[in-house]
Amino acid sequence: MGPPGVGKGTQAACIEKHFNIIHLSTGEILRDEIEGNTRIGKQAKGFIDLGQLVPDPILLDIIEIRLVHDDCKNGFLLDGFPRTLPQAIGLDKILRDCHQELDCAISLKADEDELVGRLVLRGKELGRSDDSKEIIKKRQNIYWEQTAPLIDFYRGKGFLKEVNGIGEIPEITNRILEAIK
Ligand code: ADP
Repeated sequence: MGPPGVGKGTQAACIEKHFNIIHLSTGEILRDEIEGNTRIGKQAKGFIDLGQLVPDPILLDIIEIRLVHDDCKNGFLLDGFPRTLPQAIGLDKILRDCHQELDCAISLKADEDELVGRLVLRGKELGRSDDSKEIIKKRQNIYWEQTAPLIDFYRGKGFLKEVNGIGEIPEITNRILEAIK
């Protein structure tokens, strides 16, 4: 977990390699669906372009289908999911049904203003439709309103790890590895 632009995707790729587990980014999955012009993609596009969250039932369907694939047997890292309390509760149920459980939840922390600059640059480099300044602000607000409460949810479960997300990429990866050791 972490606000938009904090480096979840970048760090997830490093952690994926380190543990040889699969990295599931719901943002990437949704962008692929949009590119493929699928039913889910068509439903999701409007929300994403406005910086809004895609409705929970769509996300829960995606994750439920994805987690039973063979490539998740060795373990998985969820990036960008869950993002709301109903998603977190839905995830618990999906995991119970497939006899899996979470080992930990990582919260990456960083200063909001620094992140806007990073995201505007990313928007230009990758051409992401939701990385304009106005939409970024909206996504940040949604993060604080809807996703940040999950930090307490996972703290309550006793496996939350909070990591400083400011610094060089390898330095942050090491902090994460140290925290989850
Ligand atoms: P970031 O973390 O930088 O906001 P993502 O690539 O994770 O970027 O997500 C991009 C967009 O995809 C989000 O703004 C949202 O519209 C949609 N999205 C991704 N994951 C979820 C989710 N779990 N629930 C609802 N919407 C999601």
